[in-house]
Amino acid sequence: NQTATTSPGKTKTDSTPITTPSKTALEIAKLKAARDSRRAAAAEIKSIQDALCPSEKETRIYRTEINAFRKQFAAVVAELPEISVDGSDDDSRIRVCVRKRPMNKKELAKESYDIVTTATTRFPHSQVYVHEPKTRVDMSKYIETHSFILDHSFDETSTNEQVYLATGKPLVKSIFEGGMCTFFAYGQTGSGKTHTIFGNPAEPGIYSYTCRDIFSQINTTTPPDQQSPHLRCSFFEIYGPKINDLLNPNPNAAPITLCEDKHGSVNLMNLHEEIVTSLSSLLSLVQRGRSLRTTRATNANSESSRSHALFQIRIVSNDGYLIGVLSLVDLAGSERGVDSISFTAKPDKKTQSEAAEINKSLLSLKECIRALYKRGLDEENGHVPFRGSKLTHILRDSFLCRESRTVMVATISPGSTSVEHTLNTLRYADRVKELGKDGSSYS
Ligand code: ADP
Ligand code: MG
Repeated sequence: NQTATTSPGKTKTDSTPITTPSKTALEIAKLKAARDSRRAAAAEIKSIQDALCPSEKETRIYRTEINAFRKQFAAVVAELPEISVDGSDDDSRIRVCVRKRPMNKKELAKESYDIVTTATTRFPHSQVYVHEPKTRVDMSKYIETHSFILDHSFDETSTNEQVYLATGKPLVKSIFEGGMCTFFAYGQTGSGKTHTIFGNPAEPGIYSYTCRDIFSQINTTTPPDQQSPHLRCSFFEIYGPKINDLLNPNPNAAPITLCEDKHGSVNLMNLHEEIVTSLSSLLSLVQRGRSLRTTRATNANSESSRSHALFQIRIVSNDGYLIGVLSLVDLAGSERGVDSISFTAKPDKKTQSEAAEINKSLLSLKECIRALYKRGLDEENGHVPFRGSKLTHILRDSFLCRESRTVMVATISPGSTSVEHTLNTLRYADRVKELGKDGSSYS
């Protein structure tokens, strides 16, 4: 029998001597295996990343094309006279504008790059260009540039005050002439809707400039021997089918319901309305409402991007006569509509119905503003489909009032990672007013 036992549990079948690996060799082998597995994991992550985001080389191709476009654009713009951003004398019933915010740190860190070109104060009809990065079938890269013409375009250097002067200021004049005016901020979450309407401690929002001018108008036009008009303010959000009062923190408050009176006018039952007589009390009222909105959203494990927030001011004369109404509407994130469903692997029922509700209201809003615009052109009483959603139903009187005026600021994120949402936002804005043809390509 040739088999001989050489060590416990092992048998020797040929004459090759068996040597036990040294402890150091075992350690080296272990380290090597660990290193190989780390390398394999890193390679896998890199290949996934490469598939997801463009390589530096691709990005460079896109950036070079965009820079070449901008060089030409800058030369054209330099030849144009500067136009004023003050829209006080503007009397158009509907104004649809676009505002590009600056790139943020996250976008810069993500190798995202700026794909929106526009200039605030140069074009008589403001033009905005979106440079869409594309790949041909042969895998070569190119940029398709889409152009949109809106009433005004604000670039990343614009301030809330400039936006106010061009868009909100004409509304103030109109409210005192009996107008029902509405200011909408529409756009993707994170594109600057809330920043535009409500601002931050460093930069007041549209609402603050508007209210400053409303009070100054009241103070300069009220004779000293008369009591001045007062403001009745309400602040609420539409979250799915529910209306949440942002001025009433009581969680057991009676639910707010929508009722029509015999003339068809819409009233919100149980909604808190506060009388405000000074600018400082109005500013603190808005702060109160905003913090309640944040707390409620946090408690419900939700986000403010899923609701429409409405801040309404009614100017009422001292004998109780309604002078005019201003509504500032911070709309739900436009990406919350149907397209968000396709990005979510398996949306639950709640997410689906939320998305459907938001979608319904944004589509309905578009139809109502379009109907308003057509009515203005035809000078006839066209049908405004305000019953299409709770949002538009609540704003019914603003849509039907002869003296109504509407401003929509479409806010856009400039980063390449937001290109689809940016194009969707501009197409929506374009359809609202049907001014230009979207998708005109310059590729
Ligand atoms: P949205 O309400 O559309 O979700 P936000 O208004 O909250 O977006 O804006 C997201 C972030 O970007 C905020 O931190 C805001 O301060 C900042 N931001 C938005 N627009 C601008 C702008 N025009 N200039 C500077 N910062 C902005
Ligand atoms: Mg917001």
